[in-house]
Amino acid sequence: MITVIGSINMDIAIQTDIFPKQGETVLGNLFTTIPGGKGANQAVAAARLGSQVQMVGAVGQDAFGNELYANLTNENILVGGVAKSSNSTGIANILLNDNDNRIIVVPGANFDVDQRMIDQNMEQIQKSSLVMLQLEIPAETIDYILEVCEKYSIPVLLNPAPAANYKPEWIEKVTYLTPNETECEVIFGTDYETVLKQYPNKIIVTLGGDGAAYHDGIEIVKVAGFATKAIDTTGAGDTFNGAFAHAITSGKSIEDAVQFANIAASLSVEKFGAQGGMPQIDKVMERLE
Ligand code: ATP
Repeated sequence: MITVIGSINMDIAIQTDIFPKQGETVLGNLFTTIPGGKGANQAVAAARLGSQVQMVGAVGQDAFGNELYANLTNENILVGGVAKSSNSTGIANILLNDNDNRIIVVPGANFDVDQRMIDQNMEQIQKSSLVMLQLEIPAETIDYILEVCEKYSIPVLLNPAPAANYKPEWIEKVTYLTPNETECEVIFGTDYETVLKQYPNKIIVTLGGDGAAYHDGIEIVKVAGFATKAIDTTGAGDTFNGAFAHAITSGKSIEDAVQFANIAASLSVEKFGAQGGMPQIDKVMERLE
């Protein structure tokens, strides 16, 4: 069982030719609401590949909350740990034009994921073969989860995004840390190769179309990405993380799990939307052969 403890958001996207200036109203072209949040995305990625996944998080008692709850259920994710909080459902308000975007995230219910909620789900969390975390819930909650996982010897994968919310002491408590190249530089203040050498078999840095890299204790291993025509890279990182979690909990080596995750993520960038492009297992297996 993989347990994802993290964010559940509705992405509210508006496509527009012009962004409004202060005090101005403009007409946009297209409005869409798409399930997102790094936690929910990574849960969906792992579940589509066949992992048993449970989600611990919170949505609001509003229409978006109901829709997101139903979306997770439709993806065969166990939602007993998803609370309905009195805060509004987390949203990302995304303004897009051809060459730019402006995003406001309101965490809402995601910030109600606290120690009490972890305690309420403790029995279920203890059944995990891996706990997956990102940084869109409060840092104190991450502190507490890491303490619990250490106590019960549960492996932890931490995807340190957004990197600004990362705390340096967490590196000692996680099994895997999966920053992208920029996040790696923000967190450690140096180039990724230097960082990988310091944390063999722990840090896996994703490198966009170039794939991903880690250090195996002897040397840096670069696992090439699968070359494809990217249509929309939103959620590529989330697909990588969900797929890596699926593969590593299925008993694959780090190298094989990274290769598997690269293939899954390459399929995800061929379609629009974060969850929209996340593949089922058969598509990944076809490409692995
Ligand atoms: P995002 O924020 O867009 O979701 P990210 O910045 O967290 O992604 P990246 O390193 O850009 O993470 O991409 C994650 C993984 O997705 C890569 O390791 C790779 O496997 C795959 N990937 C990303 N872009 C491409 C691409 N253009 N072609 C093939 N695979 C890609």
